[in-house]
Amino acid sequence: MTLTLSHIKKTFNGFTALDDVTLTAPQNQTTVILGPSGSGKSTLLRCANLLEKPDSGTLTIDEESIGFPARLSAGQIRKIRALSSMVFQSFNLFPNLSVIDNITLGPVRVNGQSKQEAQDAAKSLLDKVGLADKADAYPLQLSGGQQQRVAIARALAMNPRYLLFDEPTSALDPELEHEVTKVMAALSAEDASLVVVTHNLRFARKTADKIVFLEHGNIRFDGPADAFFDSDDPRIRQFLSIYD
Ligand code: ADP
Ligand code: MG
Repeated sequence: MTLTLSHIKKTFNGFTALDDVTLTAPQNQTTVILGPSGSGKSTLLRCANLLEKPDSGTLTIDEESIGFPARLSAGQIRKIRALSSMVFQSFNLFPNLSVIDNITLGPVRVNGQSKQEAQDAAKSLLDKVGLADKADAYPLQLSGGQQQRVAIARALAMNPRYLLFDEPTSALDPELEHEVTKVMAALSAEDASLVVVTHNLRFARKTADKIVFLEHGNIRFDGPADAFFDSDDPRIRQFLSIYD
């Protein structure tokens, strides 16, 4: 059971953002997607979650598989989205809802959990991300690092097979970044299935099982993390010399 994108192509008004991209994010592993700005990392992640619709190719998560171009029913989209949850750079919490209400909204409205069940689960998830005392706070009363940890708890509350992270710490200063990467590393150590777009190479070195390196909408490297950091591809060496 994996998340697989096969021969995915995505263009925006004739501009090719993804050009025949094929990759697998194995279950229970941490796949880190690296690459320069504009290389197609976000587009790739968004295709996996159907926030973008590929022009062609195939998306497979668990038993669900879709060949593009496709006309998708709302039900199909819901099914695919239920298999993965996205954590964004900008947290995207609902500012008018308390922390606990942010977390329980999806489980109650979409997954049909009872309010009590969802609140019990949310409390244990808040404990897991180190925010047990913040259930009744509002997002704007929290630091960026705390907000992002709430966003992770919210994503986990949906019980997805995969967690997708799009530069989850890019908006944070280093100390707050660390509290978020600590939570992500703990999830990775528990063998959660993670796909992480990041520029944080320290996190990638410590946590990634597998690295995918994108450039101009193409995959330049796909393999074990160790092999990536030892690669003698001059483009990868150059990238590492800038970000490492
Ligand atoms: P990355 O996340 O690696 O920085 P993106 O996936 O965001 O890259 O973008 C890849 C390319 O596709 C960029 O050139 C970007 O400008 C373009 N792009 C992404 N989304 C859109 C969009 N909605 N409309 C037009 N161009 C887009
Ligand atoms: Mg991006």
